[in-house]
Amino acid sequence: MLKNYFKEINFSKYTSIKIGPKASVLVINEIGDYSKHHIFGLGNNALISNSHPDFAVLGENFSYIKEENGLLYVGAATKSARLLTYAKKNNLANFEFLGKLPGNMGGLVKMNAGLKEWEIFSYVHSIKTKAGYIKKEDIEYSYRHTNIKDIIYEVVFNIEEGFKKEQAEIFKIMRENQPQTPSAGSCFKNPINDSAGRLIEAVGLKGFSKGDMSFSIKHSNFLVNNGEGTYEDAKYLISLAKEKVKKEFNIILEEEIISY
Ligand SMILES: Cc1cc2nc3c(=O)[nH]c(=O)nc-3n(C[C@H](O)[C@H](O)[C@H](O)COP(=O)(O)OP(=O)(O)OC[C@H]3O[C@@H](n4cnc5c(N)ncnc54)[C@H](O)[C@@H]3O)c2cc1C
Repeated sequence: MLKNYFKEINFSKYTSIKIGPKASVLVINEIGDYSKHHIFGLGNNALISNSHPDFAVLGENFSYIKEENGLLYVGAATKSARLLTYAKKNNLANFEFLGKLPGNMGGLVKMNAGLKEWEIFSYVHSIKTKAGYIKKEDIEYSYRHTNIKDIIYEVVFNIEEGFKKEQAEIFKIMRENQPQTPSAGSCFKNPINDSAGRLIEAVGLKGFSKGDMSFSIKHSNFLVNNGEGTYEDAKYLISLAKEKVKKEFNIILEEEIISY
């Protein structure tokens, strides 16, 4: 088993939105108390400034998938694509949507990631933190939200047979329709009974830019980096959209993207 170590990460390459400085990051391979560090996944939902906190990521010891007693134990450093491949190969249902969701299991479960009627918490049995296993019933979760405060080391899923190829194909096509330019996925959560993309478009910000950052022409709720985009330009656009939507619709847009 590997020990903890430090490695340098260049966040302008590591994060999906391609913004952020280089930093020394703690790689955790042992369960413990890491309260001085902020846990980070694969950076698909993150916007990092030059004054970010000290980060930690999970290391190789937490990347695994095993089936035992009718449950699936998945290390929290396991990437969504690896779990999708496993589900396909072993004919397991409910992981088809993972083709559309970049991240590792820790990030996906903490965010309760999902799309349409599907969300990852629907299939979670329990999670493992430094305090041991915590059952789903004891965790608060809702749309793109959980109250998990600790580092997740392992996620336990209920197993159901029957991988649905057609569903996986539909999710793949949906992905092809999203902007291919670097982004962190949806910038804002959808307000109840509305869509953040519709509101951004309605206030005239579809395709609007500041520097190299813009709200995508293809999908208004995707804040995209067209090259040399900066944290400051991204934050400017986020504030502008919130201000305009509040003024015109009296709706408070809540950020899905996490700024550090
Ligand atoms: C092109 C694109 C499309 C996307 N489409 C969707 C979509 O359709 N639906 C959707 O829900 N999301 C979508 N996203 C966002 C992203 O896929 C999810 O938010 C995913 O959960 C991020 O995982 P990550 O590992 O990259 O997490 P990060 O961005 O690194 O971190 C996200 C959060 O998880 C926490 N975290 C990470 N690891 C752990 C851990 N081990 N224990 C506890 N907390 C942890 C971090 O502290 C942070 O709060 C998209 C992103 C991109 C780039």
